[in-house]
Amino acid sequence: MKSIKMFRKLRYKLTVLCALITMGIMILFSVLYLTISEHTLRENYQLSFQHDFDSICSSLEQQKTISYDYLLHLEQNNGYQIFLWDNGQPLAFNLLKNHLPYEEYAEAAKESYFSRQTASEKRGGIFDFYVSESGETGCIGLRQIFPGQSLPKMAYERNDQSKGLLLIVFAPDTSLLTQLHRQRLLFLILCLLTELILILFAFLFTKKLLRPIADNQKKQLLFVANASHELRTPLAVILSSLDVKPPHYEETIRQEAQRMSHLVEDMLFLTGLETGKRPASLKPLAPDTFLLTFYEQTESLVRESGHSYHLLLPEESVPDFSCDKEKMTQLLLNLLQNAITYTPKGGRITLALCLKKREICFQVIDNGIGIDPEKRKEIFERFYKEDSSRHEKGHYGLGLCIAKEIVLSHKGRILVTETPGGGSTFSCCFPVTTF
Ligand code: ADP
Repeated sequence: MKSIKMFRKLRYKLTVLCALITMGIMILFSVLYLTISEHTLRENYQLSFQHDFDSICSSLEQQKTISYDYLLHLEQNNGYQIFLWDNGQPLAFNLLKNHLPYEEYAEAAKESYFSRQTASEKRGGIFDFYVSESGETGCIGLRQIFPGQSLPKMAYERNDQSKGLLLIVFAPDTSLLTQLHRQRLLFLILCLLTELILILFAFLFTKKLLRPIADNQKKQLLFVANASHELRTPLAVILSSLDVKPPHYEETIRQEAQRMSHLVEDMLFLTGLETGKRPASLKPLAPDTFLLTFYEQTESLVRESGHSYHLLLPEESVPDFSCDKEKMTQLLLNLLQNAITYTPKGGRITLALCLKKREICFQVIDNGIGIDPEKRKEIFERFYKEDSSRHEKGHYGLGLCIAKEIVLSHKGRILVTETPGGGSTFSCCFPVTTF
Protein backbone atom coordinates (compact mmCIF):
# COMPACT_ATOMS: atom_id res chain seq x y z
CA MET A 1 0.00 0.00 0.00
CA LYS A 2 2.81 2.33 1.00
CA SER A 3 4.74 1.55 -2.15
CA ILE A 4 1.66 2.17 -4.33
CA LYS A 5 1.31 5.59 -2.69
CA MET A 6 5.01 6.23 -3.19
CA PHE A 7 4.81 5.37 -6.90
CA ARG A 8 1.69 7.49 -7.33
CA LYS A 9 3.49 10.41 -5.67
CA LEU A 10 6.54 9.87 -7.84
CA ARG A 11 4.32 9.73 -10.91
CA TYR A 12 2.66 13.03 -10.05
CA LYS A 13 6.03 14.60 -9.33
CA LEU A 14 7.46 13.41 -12.65
CA THR A 15 4.38 14.65 -14.51
CA VAL A 16 4.65 18.08 -12.88
CA LEU A 17 8.37 18.19 -13.62
CA CYS A 18 7.81 17.28 -17.29
CA ALA A 19 4.98 19.82 -17.54
CA LEU A 20 7.09 22.58 -15.98
CA ILE A 21 10.10 21.88 -18.17
CA THR A 22 8.08 21.74 -21.40
CA MET A 23 6.06 24.79 -20.38
CA GLY A 24 9.30 26.72 -19.68
CA ILE A 25 10.74 25.75 -23.07
CA MET A 26 7.48 26.54 -24.85
CA ILE A 27 7.13 29.96 -23.18
CA LEU A 28 10.74 30.79 -24.01
CA PHE A 29 10.34 29.90 -27.69
CA SER A 30 6.93 31.59 -27.95
CA VAL A 31 8.26 34.83 -26.47
CA LEU A 32 11.25 34.69 -28.80
CA TYR A 33 9.05 34.03 -31.83
CA LEU A 34 6.52 36.71 -30.85
CA THR A 35 9.27 39.31 -30.29
CA ILE A 36 10.78 38.67 -33.71
CA SER A 37 7.41 38.52 -35.45
CA GLU A 38 6.11 41.69 -33.74
CA HIS A 39 9.28 43.54 -34.61
CA THR A 40 8.90 42.53 -38.27
CA LEU A 41 5.21 43.50 -38.27
CA ARG A 42 6.03 46.96 -36.86
CA GLU A 43 8.81 47.43 -39.41
CA ASN A 44 6.48 46.45 -42.25
CA TYR A 45 3.82 48.76 -40.89
CA GLN A 46 6.25 51.70 -40.83
CA LEU A 47 7.53 50.90 -44.34
CA SER A 48 4.02 50.74 -45.74
CA PHE A 49 3.18 54.05 -44.03
CA GLN A 50 6.33 55.69 -45.45
CA HIS A 51 5.34 54.48 -48.87
CA ASP A 52 1.81 55.91 -48.49
CA PHE A 53 3.13 59.18 -47.12
CA ASP A 54 5.52 59.60 -50.08
CA SER A 55 2.73 58.99 -52.55
CA ILE A 56 0.46 61.55 -50.77
CA CYS A 57 3.30 64.10 -50.94
CA SER A 58 4.03 63.52 -54.62
CA SER A 59 0.31 63.63 -55.41
CA LEU A 60 0.01 67.00 -53.60
CA GLU A 61 3.12 68.30 -55.41
CA GLN A 62 1.60 67.48 -58.76
CA GLN A 63 -2.00 68.53 -58.18
CA LYS A 64 -2.87 72.12 -59.07
CA THR A 65 -5.90 72.07 -56.83
CA ILE A 66 -6.08 70.03 -53.64
CA SER A 67 -8.79 67.44 -53.76
CA TYR A 68 -10.67 67.05 -50.47
CA ASP A 69 -12.22 63.89 -51.77
CA TYR A 70 -8.76 62.41 -52.27
CA LEU A 71 -7.76 63.27 -48.68
CA LEU A 72 -11.06 62.05 -47.24
CA HIS A 73 -10.66 58.83 -49.14
CA LEU A 74 -7.20 58.34 -47.58
CA GLU A 75 -8.53 58.97 -44.07
CA GLN A 76 -11.44 56.62 -44.56
CA ASN A 77 -9.53 53.80 -46.18
CA ASN A 78 -6.36 53.79 -44.07
CA GLY A 79 -7.55 55.27 -40.78
CA TYR A 80 -5.04 58.15 -41.23
CA GLN A 81 -5.45 61.58 -39.68
CA ILE A 82 -4.41 64.24 -42.25
CA PHE A 83 -3.54 67.82 -41.33
CA LEU A 84 -2.66 70.38 -44.03
CA TRP A 85 -1.63 74.03 -43.81
CA ASP A 86 -1.56 76.15 -46.97
CA ASN A 87 0.72 79.17 -46.63
CA GLY A 88 0.43 78.88 -42.86
CA GLN A 89 -3.36 78.67 -42.85
CA PRO A 90 -5.13 75.42 -41.81
CA LEU A 91 -6.60 73.89 -44.92
CA ALA A 92 -7.67 70.39 -44.10
CA PHE A 93 -7.95 69.41 -40.47
CA ASN A 94 -9.11 65.96 -39.72
CA LEU A 95 -11.80 65.71 -42.31
CA LEU A 96 -13.60 62.87 -40.59
CA LYS A 97 -13.64 64.84 -37.30
CA ASN A 98 -13.43 61.74 -35.24
CA HIS A 99 -10.07 62.11 -33.55
CA LEU A 100 -10.17 65.56 -32.01
CA PRO A 101 -7.21 65.07 -29.62
CA TYR A 102 -4.95 64.90 -32.69
CA GLU A 103 -5.57 68.57 -33.54
CA GLU A 104 -3.59 69.85 -30.58
CA TYR A 105 -1.00 67.22 -31.16
CA ALA A 106 -0.68 68.28 -34.81
CA GLU A 107 -0.10 71.91 -33.77
CA ALA A 108 2.68 70.83 -31.40
CA ALA A 109 4.20 68.60 -34.11
CA LYS A 110 4.13 71.52 -36.56
CA GLU A 111 5.97 73.78 -34.06
CA SER A 112 8.69 71.23 -33.40
CA TYR A 113 9.02 70.54 -37.15
CA PHE A 114 9.85 74.14 -37.96
CA SER A 115 11.99 74.70 -34.88
CA ARG A 116 14.21 71.66 -35.30
CA GLN A 117 14.40 70.45 -38.87
CA THR A 118 17.06 71.63 -41.29
CA ALA A 119 16.27 72.36 -44.94
CA SER A 120 17.60 69.00 -46.12
CA GLU A 121 15.66 67.12 -43.45
CA LYS A 122 12.48 68.95 -44.46
CA ARG A 123 12.96 68.04 -48.10
CA GLY A 124 12.96 64.34 -47.29
CA GLY A 125 10.19 64.56 -44.72
CA ILE A 126 10.20 63.28 -41.15
CA PHE A 127 8.98 59.87 -40.05
CA ASP A 128 8.66 58.93 -36.44
CA PHE A 129 6.65 57.02 -33.88
CA TYR A 130 4.36 58.90 -31.57
CA VAL A 131 2.52 58.31 -28.33
CA SER A 132 -0.39 60.71 -27.92
CA GLU A 133 -1.47 62.12 -24.56
CA SER A 134 -4.41 59.76 -24.56
CA GLY A 135 -1.97 56.88 -24.97
CA GLU A 136 -2.59 56.10 -28.64
CA THR A 137 0.47 55.10 -30.62
CA GLY A 138 1.38 55.03 -34.29
CA CYS A 139 3.51 56.56 -37.04
CA ILE A 140 3.70 60.21 -37.92
CA GLY A 141 4.93 61.83 -41.17
CA LEU A 142 5.65 65.55 -41.66
CA ARG A 143 6.77 67.39 -44.78
CA GLN A 144 6.68 70.87 -46.31
CA ILE A 145 5.61 70.77 -49.96
CA PHE A 146 5.84 73.44 -52.64
CA PRO A 147 3.47 72.48 -55.42
CA GLY A 148 4.52 73.68 -58.86
CA GLN A 149 7.42 75.89 -57.58
CA SER A 150 10.61 75.90 -59.60
CA LEU A 151 12.86 76.75 -56.69
CA PRO A 152 11.57 74.73 -53.73
CA LYS A 153 15.15 74.45 -52.37
CA MET A 154 15.26 78.15 -51.63
CA ALA A 155 11.88 78.04 -50.01
CA TYR A 156 13.07 75.24 -47.76
CA GLU A 157 16.16 77.18 -46.84
CA ARG A 158 14.24 80.29 -45.98
CA ASN A 159 12.43 78.16 -43.43
CA ASP A 160 9.34 80.09 -44.17
CA GLN A 161 6.36 78.35 -42.68
CA SER A 162 3.96 80.74 -44.33
CA LYS A 163 4.95 79.39 -47.78
CA GLY A 164 3.83 76.17 -49.44
CA LEU A 165 1.91 73.31 -47.89
CA LEU A 166 2.70 71.62 -44.61
CA LEU A 167 1.42 68.06 -44.44
CA ILE A 168 1.18 66.03 -41.24
CA VAL A 169 -0.22 62.53 -41.36
CA PHE A 170 -0.91 60.42 -38.26
CA ALA A 171 -1.25 56.72 -38.77
CA PRO A 172 -2.63 55.25 -35.50
CA ASP A 173 -1.54 51.64 -35.20
CA THR A 174 -4.90 50.35 -33.89
CA SER A 175 -5.14 47.71 -36.60
CA LEU A 176 -1.56 46.62 -35.95
CA LEU A 177 -2.24 46.39 -32.22
CA THR A 178 -5.37 44.34 -32.86
CA GLN A 179 -3.29 42.04 -35.06
CA LEU A 180 -0.60 41.75 -32.37
CA HIS A 181 -3.16 41.07 -29.64
CA ARG A 182 -4.79 38.42 -31.78
CA GLN A 183 -1.44 36.80 -32.41
CA ARG A 184 -0.59 36.80 -28.69
CA LEU A 185 -3.97 35.32 -27.81
CA LEU A 186 -3.58 32.63 -30.45
CA PHE A 187 -0.16 31.72 -29.05
CA LEU A 188 -1.52 31.62 -25.51
CA ILE A 189 -4.33 29.27 -26.53
CA LEU A 190 -1.92 27.09 -28.52
CA CYS A 191 0.54 26.95 -25.60
CA LEU A 192 -2.22 25.97 -23.16
CA LEU A 193 -3.57 23.30 -25.48
CA THR A 194 -0.13 21.85 -26.16
CA GLU A 195 0.62 21.91 -22.44
CA LEU A 196 -2.59 20.04 -21.67
CA ILE A 197 -1.74 17.38 -24.24
CA LEU A 198 1.81 17.16 -22.88
CA ILE A 199 0.57 16.77 -19.30
CA LEU A 200 -1.75 13.98 -20.39
CA PHE A 201 1.04 12.34 -22.35
CA ALA A 202 3.53 12.73 -19.47
CA PHE A 203 0.99 11.25 -17.06
CA LEU A 204 0.48 8.17 -19.22
CA PHE A 205 4.14 7.92 -20.16
CA THR A 206 5.40 8.05 -16.56
CA LYS A 207 3.01 5.21 -15.71
CA LYS A 208 4.63 3.11 -18.42
CA LEU A 209 8.08 4.27 -17.37
CA LEU A 210 7.59 3.36 -13.73
CA ARG A 211 5.87 0.03 -14.35
CA PRO A 212 9.07 -2.09 -14.53
CA ILE A 213 10.34 -0.50 -11.31
CA ALA A 214 7.00 -1.05 -9.61
CA ASP A 215 6.88 -4.66 -10.86
CA ASN A 216 10.40 -5.25 -9.66
CA GLN A 217 9.59 -3.86 -6.23
CA LYS A 218 6.49 -6.07 -6.07
CA LYS A 219 8.67 -9.06 -6.92
CA GLN A 220 11.18 -8.14 -4.20
CA LEU A 221 8.40 -7.84 -1.63
CA LEU A 222 6.95 -11.16 -2.70
CA PHE A 223 10.41 -12.72 -2.50
CA VAL A 224 10.88 -11.52 1.09
CA ALA A 225 7.34 -12.64 2.02
CA ASN A 226 7.88 -16.09 0.50
CA ALA A 227 11.31 -16.46 2.05
CA SER A 228 9.96 -15.56 5.50
CA HIS A 229 7.11 -17.99 5.01
CA GLU A 230 9.49 -20.80 4.05
CA LEU A 231 11.74 -20.09 7.04
CA ARG A 232 8.84 -19.98 9.48
CA THR A 233 8.07 -23.74 9.25
CA PRO A 234 11.53 -25.09 10.20
CA LEU A 235 11.84 -22.42 12.89
CA ALA A 236 8.48 -23.44 14.38
CA VAL A 237 9.60 -27.10 14.39
CA ILE A 238 12.88 -26.18 16.13
CA LEU A 239 11.15 -24.06 18.78
CA SER A 240 8.49 -26.66 19.55
CA SER A 241 11.15 -29.40 19.68
CA LEU A 242 13.06 -27.35 22.25
CA ASP A 243 9.91 -26.84 24.30
CA VAL A 244 8.62 -30.41 24.27
CA LYS A 245 11.98 -32.20 23.83
CA PRO A 246 10.61 -35.38 22.19
CA PRO A 247 12.93 -38.39 21.65
CA HIS A 248 15.74 -37.62 19.16
CA TYR A 249 14.76 -33.96 19.12
CA GLU A 250 18.43 -32.95 18.51
CA GLU A 251 18.29 -34.80 15.21
CA THR A 252 15.03 -33.02 14.24
CA ILE A 253 16.61 -29.66 15.06
CA ARG A 254 19.70 -30.54 13.02
CA GLN A 255 17.57 -31.54 9.99
CA GLU A 256 15.44 -28.39 10.16
CA ALA A 257 18.53 -26.20 10.59
CA GLN A 258 20.04 -27.90 7.55
CA ARG A 259 16.90 -27.16 5.52
CA MET A 260 17.07 -23.52 6.55
CA SER A 261 20.73 -23.42 5.67
CA HIS A 262 19.96 -24.82 2.16
CA LEU A 263 17.23 -22.27 1.64
CA VAL A 264 19.44 -19.38 2.73
CA GLU A 265 22.24 -20.67 0.49
CA ASP A 266 19.83 -20.85 -2.46
CA MET A 267 18.60 -17.34 -1.82
CA LEU A 268 22.13 -15.97 -1.55
CA PHE A 269 23.10 -17.79 -4.73
CA LEU A 270 20.10 -16.34 -6.55
CA THR A 271 20.79 -12.83 -5.29
CA GLY A 272 24.42 -13.16 -6.36
CA LEU A 273 23.31 -14.23 -9.85
CA GLU A 274 20.83 -11.41 -10.20
CA THR A 275 23.17 -8.68 -9.04
CA GLY A 276 26.27 -9.87 -10.95
CA LYS A 277 25.92 -9.30 -14.70
CA ARG A 278 28.16 -12.11 -15.91
CA PRO A 279 29.76 -15.06 -14.21
CA ALA A 280 33.22 -14.21 -12.94
CA SER A 281 35.12 -17.30 -14.02
CA LEU A 282 34.44 -18.00 -17.68
CA LYS A 283 36.67 -20.71 -19.06
CA PRO A 284 36.57 -22.78 -22.27
CA LEU A 285 34.83 -26.07 -21.68
CA ALA A 286 34.42 -29.17 -23.84
CA PRO A 287 30.65 -29.81 -23.50
CA ASP A 288 30.78 -33.55 -24.28
CA THR A 289 33.56 -34.30 -21.77
CA PHE A 290 31.81 -32.14 -19.18
CA LEU A 291 28.48 -33.93 -19.63
CA LEU A 292 30.15 -37.34 -19.52
CA THR A 293 31.86 -36.47 -16.21
CA PHE A 294 28.60 -35.10 -14.80
CA TYR A 295 26.80 -38.29 -15.85
CA GLU A 296 29.39 -40.46 -14.12
CA GLN A 297 29.29 -38.35 -10.95
CA THR A 298 25.50 -38.52 -10.67
CA GLU A 299 24.93 -42.06 -11.90
CA SER A 300 24.72 -43.61 -8.44
CA LEU A 301 22.35 -40.86 -7.21
CA VAL A 302 19.87 -41.50 -10.03
CA ARG A 303 20.09 -45.25 -9.92
CA GLU A 304 19.63 -45.26 -6.12
CA SER A 305 16.42 -43.32 -6.60
CA GLY A 306 15.10 -46.18 -8.70
CA HIS A 307 15.35 -44.66 -12.20
CA SER A 308 17.18 -45.76 -15.28
CA TYR A 309 19.85 -43.26 -16.39
CA HIS A 310 21.13 -42.67 -19.93
CA LEU A 311 23.55 -40.41 -21.76
CA LEU A 312 23.23 -39.27 -25.39
CA LEU A 313 26.21 -37.56 -27.00
CA PRO A 314 26.39 -36.38 -30.62
CA GLU A 315 28.61 -38.26 -33.03
CA GLU A 316 30.12 -35.15 -34.60
CA SER A 317 32.69 -33.08 -32.66
CA VAL A 318 31.26 -30.32 -30.49
CA PRO A 319 33.07 -26.96 -30.21
CA ASP A 320 34.25 -25.69 -26.82
CA PHE A 321 32.31 -22.89 -25.22
CA SER A 322 33.19 -20.54 -22.40
CA CYS A 323 31.27 -20.89 -19.17
CA ASP A 324 31.46 -21.01 -15.43
CA LYS A 325 31.88 -24.74 -14.87
CA GLU A 326 30.62 -24.72 -11.29
CA LYS A 327 27.45 -22.91 -12.26
CA MET A 328 26.89 -25.28 -15.19
CA THR A 329 27.14 -28.20 -12.76
CA GLN A 330 24.67 -26.50 -10.43
CA LEU A 331 22.30 -25.91 -13.38
CA LEU A 332 22.30 -29.55 -14.48
CA LEU A 333 22.04 -30.75 -10.88
CA ASN A 334 18.89 -28.66 -10.30
CA LEU A 335 17.28 -30.05 -13.45
CA LEU A 336 18.35 -33.58 -12.61
CA GLN A 337 16.98 -33.37 -9.07
CA ASN A 338 13.64 -32.22 -10.46
CA ALA A 339 13.62 -35.05 -12.98
CA ILE A 340 14.22 -37.52 -10.12
CA THR A 341 11.52 -35.91 -7.97
CA TYR A 342 8.85 -35.67 -10.66
CA THR A 343 9.45 -39.04 -12.33
CA PRO A 344 7.90 -42.08 -10.64
CA LYS A 345 10.25 -44.88 -9.65
CA GLY A 346 11.25 -47.07 -12.57
CA GLY A 347 11.10 -44.09 -14.90
CA ARG A 348 13.73 -43.08 -17.42
CA ILE A 349 16.04 -40.08 -17.15
CA THR A 350 18.35 -39.08 -20.00
CA LEU A 351 21.11 -36.50 -20.29
CA ALA A 352 21.64 -35.33 -23.87
CA LEU A 353 23.89 -32.96 -25.73
CA CYS A 354 22.95 -31.67 -29.14
CA LEU A 355 24.16 -29.12 -31.62
CA LYS A 356 21.67 -26.74 -33.14
CA LYS A 357 22.35 -23.79 -35.45
CA ARG A 358 25.23 -22.00 -33.65
CA GLU A 359 23.94 -23.32 -30.31
CA ILE A 360 24.98 -26.03 -27.87
CA CYS A 361 22.06 -27.50 -25.98
CA PHE A 362 22.17 -29.54 -22.77
CA GLN A 363 18.99 -31.51 -22.22
CA VAL A 364 17.55 -33.28 -19.18
CA ILE A 365 14.80 -35.57 -20.39
CA ASP A 366 12.41 -37.53 -18.19
CA ASN A 367 9.24 -39.52 -18.72
CA GLY A 368 7.68 -38.38 -15.47
CA ILE A 369 4.46 -36.56 -14.60
CA GLY A 370 5.06 -33.77 -17.11
CA ILE A 371 4.08 -30.11 -16.85
CA ASP A 372 0.80 -28.51 -17.81
CA PRO A 373 1.54 -26.36 -20.95
CA GLU A 374 -0.17 -23.38 -19.28
CA LYS A 375 2.20 -23.58 -16.31
CA ARG A 376 5.41 -23.79 -18.35
CA LYS A 377 6.18 -20.09 -17.90
CA GLU A 378 5.21 -19.86 -14.24
CA ILE A 379 7.50 -22.67 -13.09
CA PHE A 380 10.53 -20.39 -13.53
CA GLU A 381 9.14 -17.86 -11.03
CA ARG A 382 10.64 -17.65 -7.56
CA PHE A 383 9.02 -19.94 -4.98
CA TYR A 384 6.69 -21.47 -7.57
CA LYS A 385 5.41 -24.82 -6.45
CA GLU A 386 2.81 -26.87 -8.21
CA ASP A 387 1.92 -28.39 -4.86
CA SER A 388 2.25 -25.67 -2.24
CA SER A 389 2.31 -28.18 0.63
CA ARG A 390 5.55 -29.70 -0.71
CA HIS A 391 8.43 -28.87 1.62
CA GLU A 392 10.37 -32.07 1.72
CA LYS A 393 13.92 -32.42 0.38
CA GLY A 394 14.30 -28.68 0.26
CA HIS A 395 11.71 -28.13 -2.46
CA TYR A 396 11.14 -24.42 -2.04
CA GLY A 397 10.40 -23.55 -5.65
CA LEU A 398 13.77 -21.88 -6.23
CA GLY A 399 15.49 -24.59 -8.30
CA LEU A 400 14.22 -23.56 -11.74
CA CYS A 401 14.54 -19.88 -10.96
CA ILE A 402 18.22 -20.44 -10.15
CA ALA A 403 18.59 -22.52 -13.32
CA LYS A 404 17.07 -19.74 -15.42
CA GLU A 405 19.35 -17.08 -13.90
CA ILE A 406 22.43 -19.25 -14.55
CA VAL A 407 21.40 -19.70 -18.19
CA LEU A 408 20.65 -15.99 -18.65
CA SER A 409 23.98 -15.00 -17.11
CA HIS A 410 25.60 -17.06 -19.90
CA LYS A 411 23.44 -15.34 -22.51
CA GLY A 412 21.60 -18.57 -23.15
CA ARG A 413 17.96 -19.61 -23.07
CA ILE A 414 16.07 -22.28 -21.18
CA LEU A 415 12.91 -23.94 -22.38
CA VAL A 416 10.69 -26.79 -21.37
CA THR A 417 8.89 -29.06 -23.78
CA GLU A 418 6.97 -32.29 -23.51
CA THR A 419 8.95 -35.49 -23.90
CA PRO A 420 7.47 -37.63 -26.72
CA GLY A 421 5.36 -40.24 -24.92
CA GLY A 422 5.00 -38.06 -21.77
CA GLY A 423 7.27 -36.30 -19.29
CA SER A 424 9.33 -33.14 -19.45
CA THR A 425 12.39 -32.11 -21.43
CA PHE A 426 14.40 -29.16 -20.19
CA SER A 427 16.78 -27.68 -22.78
CA CYS A 428 19.48 -25.14 -21.93
CA CYS A 429 20.96 -23.66 -25.12
CA PHE A 430 24.06 -21.45 -25.28
CA PRO A 431 25.37 -19.54 -28.26
CA VAL A 432 28.76 -20.80 -29.38
CA THR A 433 29.99 -17.54 -30.83
CA THR A 434 29.23 -15.25 -27.90
CA PHE A 435 32.24 -16.26 -25.84
P1 ADP B 1 11.03 -27.23 -6.51
O1 ADP B 1 12.29 -27.07 -5.76
O2 ADP B 1 9.80 -27.04 -5.69
O3 ADP B 1 11.02 -28.46 -7.35
P2 ADP B 1 11.57 -25.82 -8.91
O4 ADP B 1 11.75 -24.36 -9.16
O5 ADP B 1 12.72 -26.67 -9.18
O6 ADP B 1 11.01 -25.96 -7.47
O7 ADP B 1 10.34 -26.28 -9.80
C1 ADP B 1 9.15 -25.55 -9.79
C2 ADP B 1 7.98 -26.46 -10.18
O8 ADP B 1 8.15 -26.89 -11.52
C3 ADP B 1 7.88 -27.71 -9.36
O9 ADP B 1 7.11 -27.47 -8.18
C4 ADP B 1 7.14 -28.64 -10.30
O10 ADP B 1 5.77 -28.43 -10.23
C5 ADP B 1 7.61 -28.19 -11.67
N1 ADP B 1 8.69 -29.06 -12.25
C6 ADP B 1 10.00 -28.79 -12.28
N2 ADP B 1 10.68 -29.80 -12.91
C7 ADP B 1 9.76 -30.68 -13.29
C8 ADP B 1 9.82 -31.93 -13.99
N3 ADP B 1 10.98 -32.47 -14.42
N4 ADP B 1 8.67 -32.59 -14.19
C9 ADP B 1 7.48 -32.12 -13.78
N5 ADP B 1 7.36 -30.93 -13.11
C10 ADP B 1 8.47 -30.24 -12.85
